[in-house]
Amino acid sequence: MAWSKLAPVRFARLNSPTGPQYVRLDGPHAYPLDVAPWSELGAGATLSSTAARRDWTESDLLCPVVPSKIVCVGRNYAAHAKELGNEVPAEPLLFFKPPSSLLAPGGAIVLPTQSAKVEHESELAIVIGKRTRNVSKAEAMGAIFGFTSANDVTARDLQKKDGQWARAKGFDTFCPVGPWIETEMAIDALRVQCIVNGEVRQNGLTSDMIFDVPTLIAYISAAMTLEPGDLILTGTPEGVGPLAPGDVCDVVIRRDDGPDELGVLRASVRAT
Ligand code: MG
Repeated sequence: MAWSKLAPVRFARLNSPTGPQYVRLDGPHAYPLDVAPWSELGAGATLSSTAARRDWTESDLLCPVVPSKIVCVGRNYAAHAKELGNEVPAEPLLFFKPPSSLLAPGGAIVLPTQSAKVEHESELAIVIGKRTRNVSKAEAMGAIFGFTSANDVTARDLQKKDGQWARAKGFDTFCPVGPWIETEMAIDALRVQCIVNGEVRQNGLTSDMIFDVPTLIAYISAAMTLEPGDLILTGTPEGVGPLAPGDVCDVVIRRDDGPDELGVLRASVRAT
C-alpha cells in the first residue's frame, strides 16, 4: 500500500484555487498530496507535497473519490428486501451507478421530472486501493483503501417500470458520497442511519448484511477488474422512503460505542 495501514488516516478532496486537491485531513488542517492517496508509487516516492498546509471548511469538500465505476449491491439486507416485496437473493445482486451521478458533500439532490417517487438509501461504501482481479475472500480486505458513506438515491417508480435499473439509479446527483475517507475501521457492526429533517428513517447494522464485505469483493472481482478509487456500495438497510423538495437528508454511519469516524454526509433536496 502507498500509505501505512497501521493507523487510521483520513483523506478528502477539496476545492482549491488551482482545482481539486487530494488532502490528508488532521482536524482543521489539510495537508495537500501531489497524487490520489491510493496511487501506486515508485520506490522512494512519497505522497507528501511541497504545497503548504491549509485550513479547510465543509464548503471546500468535493467527492473524495473519482471512481472509474461505482458497483452497487442490491437487497443485501433481508429486512430491506422484504419491505420492497423482494426475495432475499441467493447470490449478490450487482448493478452500476454512473460516475456522473456523484454528488459532493453538502450538494443538492435534484428530483427529476420523470419520477414521482425518489427515495434515499444509506449505504457503507468501500474505496478500492489497488487493481484487484479474482481475489479470494481471505485476500479481499487487502484490496480496500478505506471507507466512506454513500446515498444510493433511487427513482423507485422507474426502477419498477424500466426493469433495468440504469436510469432509476443513474440520474445526476443520485450518488452523494463522502464527506471523507477513513482508512481503518471496524466495519462488522456499524450503525447505518438515514436521517431526514432530523427524523431517523433508516437505522440498520452492517452485521445484518446478507453478504459481507469480503464476500462482495471476491464476488465482484471474479467478474471485473476493480481499479484504485473504485467504489462499492454495500446495500441499504430497511426504512427507505421518499424525498421531497426542501428535505435535508443525512447519512450517518458509526459504531454505537465508537468515535464519529465517517462524519455526516448531508444533501439537500430540490425540484428540477
Ligand atoms: Mg442501494
